[in-house]
Amino acid sequence: MHYPEPISKLIDSFTKLPGIGPKTAQRLAFYVLTMKEEDVLSIAKSLVHAKRDLHYCSTCQNITDVDPCYVCRDKKRDQSIICIVQDPKDVIAMERTREFNGLYHVLNGVISPMEGIGPEELKIKELLIRLEDEQVKELILATNPNIEGEATAMYIAKLVKPFGLKVTRIAHGLPVGGDLEYADEVTITKALEGRREL
Ligand SMILES: [Zn+2]
Repeated sequence: MHYPEPISKLIDSFTKLPGIGPKTAQRLAFYVLTMKEEDVLSIAKSLVHAKRDLHYCSTCQNITDVDPCYVCRDKKRDQSIICIVQDPKDVIAMERTREFNGLYHVLNGVISPMEGIGPEELKIKELLIRLEDEQVKELILATNPNIEGEATAMYIAKLVKPFGLKVTRIAHGLPVGGDLEYADEVTITKALEGRREL
């Protein structure tokens, strides 16, 4: 017995999302059938709009609907300091602390030989272009404190040596193996304050 095509297509679509196996996909698909049509339409529209209207900021590589993004446009922010994070969600986590007033650079990933992700897959070239700007005086490496995050931080620290900048790594106030995006404001603030020079 096969499902009617629209439902099997919907199940297939859900399995394309991370963390969703066939069982969950099936449950979600059948749930959609019980939803109000306007709610289903609203989800469908949000999916399409998010994909269509969001892109990388041409400066910091964060996701944004305006280019440059609101952080890069804000001339009141300290233009001499760039905090390097691995994920757009980390920018949100850092901004929540209200402690950091510099700029960001979002790598959109970390070096992970296990998953076949090398430096060229990350937004590192774009970072080097920014560093040509002499306003930048300090780089804070705020990748997550796990193996991939450390390896990525070390790689970048070495790469930017010729620029002669102050390069710092956030302190290990963050739990080892933890993610920046899940850390609370106090922990992130402490990690920033305790950053050490590499
Ligand atoms: Zn930006």
